Amino acid sequence: MEKEPLVLQETLEDTFGSNVFNDAVMRTRLPKNIYKALKKTIDEGLPLDPSVADVVANAMKDWAIEKGATHFTHWFQPMTGITAEKHDSFISPTSDGRVILEFSGKELIKGEPDASSFPSGGLRATFEARGYTAWDCTSPAFFKDKTLYIPTAFCSYTGEALDKKTPLLRSMEALSKQAVRVLRLLGNTTATKVTTTVGPEQEYFIIDKKLYDKRKDLILTGRTLFGSKPPKGQELEDHYFGAIKERISGFMAEVDQELWKLGVLAKTKHNEVAPAQHELAPIFSTTNIATDHNQLVMETLKKVAARHGLVCLLHEKPFAGVNGSGKHNNWSMSTNDGQNLLDPGKTPHENEQFLLFLTAVIQAVDEYSEILRVAAANPGNDHRLGANEAPPAIISIFLGEQLSDILEQLENGGAKSSKSGGELRIGVTTLPTLPKDSTDRNRTSPFAFTGNKFEFRMVPSSASIAGPNTALNTIVAEILSRIADRLEKATDVDAEVQAIIKEIIKNHKRIVFNGNNYSDEWVVEAEKRGLPNIKSTVASIPYLISDKSIKVFENHGVLSKVELHSRYEIFLEEYAKVINIEALTMLDIAKRQILPASIKFAGELAASINKIKSATAKASTAAEEKLLVEVSAVVDSFSANIAALEKAVEEAEATSGDALKHAEFYRDVVFTTMAKVRVDADKLETLVDASIWPLPTYADMLFNV
Ligand code: ADP
Ligand code: MG
Repeated sequence: MEKEPLVLQETLEDTFGSNVFNDAVMRTRLPKNIYKALKKTIDEGLPLDPSVADVVANAMKDWAIEKGATHFTHWFQPMTGITAEKHDSFISPTSDGRVILEFSGKELIKGEPDASSFPSGGLRATFEARGYTAWDCTSPAFFKDKTLYIPTAFCSYTGEALDKKTPLLRSMEALSKQAVRVLRLLGNTTATKVTTTVGPEQEYFIIDKKLYDKRKDLILTGRTLFGSKPPKGQELEDHYFGAIKERISGFMAEVDQELWKLGVLAKTKHNEVAPAQHELAPIFSTTNIATDHNQLVMETLKKVAARHGLVCLLHEKPFAGVNGSGKHNNWSMSTNDGQNLLDPGKTPHENEQFLLFLTAVIQAVDEYSEILRVAAANPGNDHRLGANEAPPAIISIFLGEQLSDILEQLENGGAKSSKSGGELRIGVTTLPTLPKDSTDRNRTSPFAFTGNKFEFRMVPSSASIAGPNTALNTIVAEILSRIADRLEKATDVDAEVQAIIKEIIKNHKRIVFNGNNYSDEWVVEAEKRGLPNIKSTVASIPYLISDKSIKVFENHGVLSKVELHSRYEIFLEEYAKVINIEALTMLDIAKRQILPASIKFAGELAASINKIKSATAKASTAAEEKLLVEVSAVVDSFSANIAALEKAVEEAEATSGDALKHAEFYRDVVFTTMAKVRVDADKLETLVDASIWPLPTYADMLFNV
């Protein structure tokens, strides 16, 4: 008799990172000198010796093949905001007609995907189609789907960044350089590198695949273009942190497993505010890795959902009238001598270093808020920022009571104390007394200080976090560089630090707002303070190519004028394309599903009225007639609005010569006409027989899983 194989339960420690060519794997698989050389490149940013690459490539290949890999791919992040990959197999022919498996250092370091099919915003036309991917050894390679994945940066023949990763890496270097300068001047002799750290909290919706398949709008645009409010929404607040349903928790468990294997530190999961909305938060890591990992998180959520008959929606606003999704980009700076530069410590009022870095961030955000605004803009986010039901698109900083108090003391002479949180007494003797945080939370602030980091909460849920972090790193690097310049010239560094902090508080305190950002009063107040309120993606994009923006990005070698212009073109084009697809999808559903169903219903009503009338003159048909009149009236208006939308889409073509005008036309004419079409359709949904209505409703989709 055959024995059952002994299956050992894989422990979480074994699973974690098991598909990553990480430090532990490199240490065991690489010769000592090679390992050391590679580490130097990773940790100190020294150029990589090509002979090292050969050895590393070979070790990577052996490791991947043991796991069952047949291919390798350069994994990159073009301006589409998602990832791209082209797979090559390891095989190489021998003279006797067989194959051997090979992977050279050259193949590891450099790839050559055709750049012409990715958005380049004019860079491509000028510099031909050739594009290169270059190995980013600071983010570990990993194994997935029988393939060795090599994280890479993507650039043109002449070195212009065609992707989101190159500028991000440049911005990290820029920030490190300036932060280290400041630290030196403050007397720190040990830190040689400062990395920005990020923990992005990812929000998403989960719905049933069977319902999704019946909605062309979800399939083609990621959001519902139609749908009236369900009888139940989020008003009972029973979903947030609620018990996770079995089907969802099965899905989440599998997501965690997959992510852990890839070395993603998936940590927290919970139900979000809206029904069917959830969140996944990883433990923070280096910005570059966090950005790669966030891409893996988004991809894994979608992939695993499909296995469970579910669909994951990453769109910022899949359902109108229901909370949207964002990404909370928790950001800080940490030194390689072990300090978090935004950690206030126990007595922040005495912590000069903390106060200097804190105020540097405050100044950066105030001075360059337009840049952060563009970085958080995408067509989906227009439904969240500055829209009726969302916070205004005004950037401000929440500091909380303790820090605000310290800054006030500093402005008025000097800080003598830090308010402490004290203890929390719950009033039940068996419950422990908890130390209280020194600040409460503020869930309405777009940029909130949360203890030892800032949380940039405007970031779109579907987008790469590379852009927001590139912006953040660059503007903070700029302020730090100015601070370093001043300190270098100072005779009394201590006094100069005090003066700088005081000056920043005085000049930039307008950006600090601890109140309710969702209130109407804030919009008025912000205007009084002179804070920009940039209401749409299209309105924000031109700030990318303002003199101020070009200067700061060029100053730190993050993006050149040409690269900024290419992004300006790409973002505007993307906006126009997205709205165009939405409009066409809307027209398709309106004309081929909603209109016919409504007409059919009206016909049935008419037939039933006639039938009743011919059966007996005594029965009243008043209700049917009233309904018929109402339906017909809405159908009339609907049909007229459909015609208007068709015309708008046609007219949009004529504006395509100028990217800005084109995008503006889509925003001002096409998008607004779409809203009118929707109003009629949503009204019809409430009138037409449910058995005829062609689309799953909000209630179906939001309460079905
Ligand atoms: P909070 O309670 O403020 O939400 P959490 O500890 O739950 O804080 O963290 C939220 C997110 O912020 C997590 O992804 C976490 O890893 C991340 N985070 C924590 N510390 C830092 C840091 N120093 N830099 C960047 N992100 C951080
Ligand atoms: Mg949070």
